[in-house]
Amino acid sequence: GAAIGVLGGGQLGRMMALAGAPLGYRFVALDPAPEAPCGQVAAQIVAAYSDKDAAAELAERTDVITYEFENVDAEVAALLEERSYVPQGSRLLYTTQHRLREKAALEAAGATVAPYAEVKSEAELDAAVKRLGTPCVLKTATGGYDGKGQVVVRDGSEVASAYAELAVTGAELVVEQFVKFQCEISVIAARSSSGETSTFPPAENIHRRGILHASIVPARVPADVLAEAERLAARIAESLGAVGLLAVEMFYGRDGVLYVNEVAPRPHNSGHYTMEACTTSQFEQHVRAICGLPLGSPELRTPVVMVNVLGEHLAGVHKLMLSPESAGTEAVRPKLHLYGKAETKAGRKMGHINLLCGDTADALAWIESAGIWPSE
Ligand code: ATP
Ligand code: MG
Ligand code: MG
Repeated sequence: GAAIGVLGGGQLGRMMALAGAPLGYRFVALDPAPEAPCGQVAAQIVAAYSDKDAAAELAERTDVITYEFENVDAEVAALLEERSYVPQGSRLLYTTQHRLREKAALEAAGATVAPYAEVKSEAELDAAVKRLGTPCVLKTATGGYDGKGQVVVRDGSEVASAYAELAVTGAELVVEQFVKFQCEISVIAARSSSGETSTFPPAENIHRRGILHASIVPARVPADVLAEAERLAARIAESLGAVGLLAVEMFYGRDGVLYVNEVAPRPHNSGHYTMEACTTSQFEQHVRAICGLPLGSPELRTPVVMVNVLGEHLAGVHKLMLSPESAGTEAVRPKLHLYGKAETKAGRKMGHINLLCGDTADALAWIESAGIWPSE
């Protein structure tokens, strides 16, 4: 079978390798951490992501190259495109690596984004906050994840401190209106190298302290909004020329509008629910899309709640899995996925549980009683 090279050896690469193996693909991950999560289930080249010799070796040893994180070094991406087959290309990476470029591309695709402004000085932030109104949120344009590199500006008196806090990063900054939303949802779209497009059912996402905590599917929003969200995600994937997966994060506003927050050109935490709940998982769909196979059915076979297992939950979850609770009941069937990370840290994603259920309220109650719900 063909070999797929993965830039990055984290949990997304690991689950990609586990999903691609039954289709006959072998995987080689490139990651600096020895025995990275993906390296435990696939071959691994241990080297820095920016190491050009290692990238050349990855190209040599594989037939198709993909990535599992967005901050791929531009020079490495160019080298891989030259030496190997990178169906996703590097243009979409370039677009999504910078919030201003990303917002422009989303607007060009016909999506609505929260009103925003570029910020180059404290005076510009002050003017933008007056124009956009409060609350708003100041973000670094590059490098942010899990809510890092963001400060909420609740009123004009917080402009100076917010600016000072993020200016030290040296990154370019963007400020955007804080959307008053009913809930957050996301859609994982897939587009194959032949142009076939498919979308998974929207997930309703619960965040705590900027980190995704749980996804509820079906999302608890009206059916016409679900359909609109899927159409919007497909349109964005087409407009951006995506190949592989494109995760589209949205706010369902109190005004009924779907605002697109950001996109990620890769498998996404909010798509983990697909692993047991859909006919095809997001990881299999990604492999199919980049290898030019027909896309699988995204059909949802059961309601599901996905909950992340963070470092602080790990000991409790280990105990839980030894108890009769771990088999679940007819109402709630927990499916555990641990990532095999070497180091356990509070706030770090160590795994997730997909709770297959008849009613998502039962799964949410299970999470509550298992103590996997984080403090506010
Ligand atoms: P990710 O880990 O998803 O890449 P990130 O660090 O890129 O996260 P965002 O997705 O921009 O950050 O924001 C994280 C969370 O913060 C959002 O999911 C949402 O809960 C909240 N948030 C960010 N921007 C806004 C906004 N303009 N209005 C309302 N809430 C927001
Ligand atoms: Mg992000
Ligand atoms: Mg996000």
